[in-house]
Amino acid sequence: MAYCPQCAAELTKDASTCLKCGAALNADGGWRPLQAKPKARTTSRIKIAAWLVGIPVLLIALLLAYSEFANWFASRQAAEFCAKARPGEPIAPLLAAGAGWRMRPIYVRERSEYVFVFPGFGLDKAICRITVIGDKVQTATAQMFYD
Ligand SMILES: [Zn+2]
Repeated sequence: MAYCPQCAAELTKDASTCLKCGAALNADGGWRPLQAKPKARTTSRIKIAAWLVGIPVLLIALLLAYSEFANWFASRQAAEFCAKARPGEPIAPLLAAGAGWRMRPIYVRERSEYVFVFPGFGLDKAICRITVIGDKVQTATAQMFYD
């Protein structure tokens, strides 16, 4: 029995091409049938190809899932933080460390507004804006900003 050197299929006697993979046999410079059954290389090639395609696809899927999660988490934190700011109540407890913000609040003097940034994925971020009158909360709005 002869075997195809390309795909290891059994060959009929005097076959000039492999019926399974189409490899040209006995042609000048072509494949020569093997007398011993070779290890099927196609299987490992398919496996390698599957890994080559599968790993990047998996990484992209993980990255997308992570970015979704990071943005969801950031917007939830911003919303939760904003919910603590009740109109008419003092802003001071919200500015204290441990109040729940992740990055030190930015004060925008011309708008009497504190901006609390909650980083999401990459440059995406959720923001809670709290406007004040004197030292009291006036309004609180949470928003998501995508890069
Ligand atoms: Zn073949």
